[in-house]
Amino acid sequence: MAIEERNEQTFATRQIHAGAVVDSDVGARVTPIYQSAGYVFPSYDEAEARFSGESVGRAYSRGDNPTNVVAGKRIANLEGGRNGLVVSSGQAAIAMTLFSLAASGDHVLSTASLYGGTRQLFDGSLTRQGLNFEFLGADATEEEWLARVRPETRAVYTESVPNPKNDVVDLELLGRVAARAGVPLIVDNTVATPYLCRPIEWGADIVIHSTSKWLSGHGSVIGGVIIDAGKFDWAANSERFPHFTKGSFEGAPSFIERYGADTFMSYVKSVTVLDYGPTVPPTSTFLLLHGIETLSLRMERHVENAQRVAEWLEARPEVASVDYSGLPSNAYYELAQKYLPDGAGSVVSFDLPGGPDAARKFVEALELVSHMTHIGDVRTLALHMESTIFKRSTQEQRDEAGVTPGLIRLSIGIEGIDDILADLERGLEATKA
Ligand SMILES: *Cc1c(COP(=O)(O)O)cnc(C)c1O
Repeated sequence: MAIEERNEQTFATRQIHAGAVVDSDVGARVTPIYQSAGYVFPSYDEAEARFSGESVGRAYSRGDNPTNVVAGKRIANLEGGRNGLVVSSGQAAIAMTLFSLAASGDHVLSTASLYGGTRQLFDGSLTRQGLNFEFLGADATEEEWLARVRPETRAVYTESVPNPKNDVVDLELLGRVAARAGVPLIVDNTVATPYLCRPIEWGADIVIHSTSKWLSGHGSVIGGVIIDAGKFDWAANSERFPHFTKGSFEGAPSFIERYGADTFMSYVKSVTVLDYGPTVPPTSTFLLLHGIETLSLRMERHVENAQRVAEWLEARPEVASVDYSGLPSNAYYELAQKYLPDGAGSVVSFDLPGGPDAARKFVEALELVSHMTHIGDVRTLALHMESTIFKRSTQEQRDEAGVTPGLIRLSIGIEGIDDILADLERGLEATKA
């Protein structure tokens, strides 16, 4: 059995080996960058078979590049999914997932506390395309969720660990809601990473990531991934997903008939991504694969540093409050203990009572910590939320995401903890000037 299929191996081993194949011509151990737009057909008949879908051989890199295939398989393996597809960004992963499930007039239920870019995509471009979104608070009950389900509902959407507020989501509850509604549960697992949380174990059907963040870790590429658990029963919910369960013309086989448990992934790959074209360059995927190889080691240091920073900030008089679910005082501590037993991630947000003025002084005094918009880098990063990502948001959107006027988001890196704390000390001192 190929090494990538032996799933009893530990996470640390699979992050290095899953999905990798030794190049049959030259024996390259590291997955090469297959920088080729297309692939020579060995025969006339094989060309025809690849276009009709009867052969799985590849034709063109827009939807099927060998370097990219390895990354999709590796991340799917780490998540406990059936297969995965890397795309050009996290935003593209979200858009391609929803384009594969919902069309104009359809409805999506989502938790309200979301990454700012996702909220903009939902309220902006996707709403303009005719999709309807409805948002529920993190504390909504199962009954409240079920009461919002409509015949046009096509998905339940959430983030396992929303940033900046760290209001950990009750994945099991949402898994039950989605199952009762007859729609897949989509979980953006970017902040937790599969090292800290595997949403499929709690009921997710589709997992997405911005691979630009912790999976890469080095902060040098943009990318995304869509992972299919392969367990959603499309056939039982045929009225909602006829594009999977009915052939495109009389007598044509449906996706279900052709691909079975791979229905969703096959549709994303051979229809949505091929039509819209958000292909990630294999050079980026090569760098992503290098990042994934050290994910567990980096995450151990990320969460250790983040926990220390959160405890340190909580004890500081200049800080009004800290949002980190690894703190026993945090409202989401219990959920974090359940879903994130190995650490609550490495985004730590805190509120400066002095608002934007204090935030300006804080970020301008930093020397080690980089003032930039990004998370999941080996470097520690800081950003004032209201004046940047939430600049164009309504007050209601800010309230739902927990963005107060003095909120600073930190993405804690893997530098020496003493150096990180010394720089934060410099920033907090400056707020008093
Ligand atoms: C960054 C991010 C995205 C978007 O990913 P990009 O790679 O920047 O397009 C989506 N979801 C979450 C949680 C993110 O942090």
